Amino acid sequence: MTERAPLSRKLSAIAESATLKVDAKAKALKAAGRPVISYAAGEPDFATPEFIVDAAAQAVRDPANYRYTPAAGLPVLREAIAAKTMRDSGLEVNPAQIVVTNGGKQAVYQAFQTVVNPGDEVLLPAPFWTTYPEAIALADGVPVEVFAGADQDYKVTVEQLDAARTERTTVLVFVSPSNPTGSVYTPEETRAIGEWALEHGIWVITDEIYQNLVYEGARAVSIVEAVPGLADRTILVNGVAKTYAMTGWRVGWMVGPRDAISLASNLQSHLSSNVNNIAQRAALAALSGPQHEAEKFRLAFDRRRRLIVDELSKIDGVVVPVPLGAFYVYPDVTGLLGREWRGRTLNTSLELADFILEEAEVAVVPGEAFGPSGYLRLSYALGDDQLLEGIRRLQQLFA
Ligand code: PMP
Repeated sequence: MTERAPLSRKLSAIAESATLKVDAKAKALKAAGRPVISYAAGEPDFATPEFIVDAAAQAVRDPANYRYTPAAGLPVLREAIAAKTMRDSGLEVNPAQIVVTNGGKQAVYQAFQTVVNPGDEVLLPAPFWTTYPEAIALADGVPVEVFAGADQDYKVTVEQLDAARTERTTVLVFVSPSNPTGSVYTPEETRAIGEWALEHGIWVITDEIYQNLVYEGARAVSIVEAVPGLADRTILVNGVAKTYAMTGWRVGWMVGPRDAISLASNLQSHLSSNVNNIAQRAALAALSGPQHEAEKFRLAFDRRRRLIVDELSKIDGVVVPVPLGAFYVYPDVTGLLGREWRGRTLNTSLELADFILEEAEVAVVPGEAFGPSGYLRLSYALGDDQLLEGIRRLQQLFA
């Protein structure tokens, strides 16, 4: 017998999602009866609003939804997405410039597939969401990390981007509000970066999935609104998951110039065809229905944000930049490293996160999942009592 041919080298190089891994470990411990409090999940803890669920229930009874529909999405949903894009990103688009995807994640994947050629360098501001480097690699691109620390509120500057640019640079990833840091670029910072990208003929993939979750009067101005000239070289990624507590429904979308969207739509027609029609109808209700429930979620997140920042800041050695968006805090914990805790010296945030789970039964995601060591990501999308209890445990552990 001859040895079996090898598995895909490309896929063998892809790592399992670190955030899903920590979350799964926390859930397994919980199932085993341990009182684990998890700050690991990247999803709202609220139920999807009733009127959205009702729209889906109605759609289940409509035989029109039992068949294939256009790969790029239901026309009526694409119209609603065009209206939302105008409303929130200040960009006028035709529904033909939109592809509805299976969550924002598929939009991210397809965006890189659409604009990256083998060997292209993609500038990736770090800390970054774990999926980007893998999606870039799957498109045969080369991620080039550009790191911004807590001292600069985790936001890169034009100077840093320019220092990382080479003649192979073709794409910039721009995410505001950011996962994992919650940072929001100011309109001026956004414009400066957008103008720089325009000047150098660089594509921008802008992930706006947290654009409606902003606080203290901040507005995450879309990079295409700040620099309208970028419209023919920008792909916007978005979805209903975070704003409407709809992570499980799996509806996202990509918006971009017609030629790029046409390529993405062809890819999707072979990959997955149309997104589940019931979920598309639910997304339509979310985007075109009343927005007050989404606003209620945002206000709850805002309250928890202030709570977690205040309480975490009380721990000596933890620096907590105040996030203005999303539902994450990203403390710099380098002040806790290299020191002895309960007889153990912890040198990396990975070791620190393990130690916290073992000793305090609190799940957090280490910075290593998003770039350099020295940070932890805590999602505050959990109930107030749990939120406080978990931080109390950390305060005791590092007293
Ligand atoms: N972009 C960012 C920055 C995210 O944090 C997430 C979810 N973690 C997504 C995209 C994808 O969201 P979904 O696929 O659930 O719509």
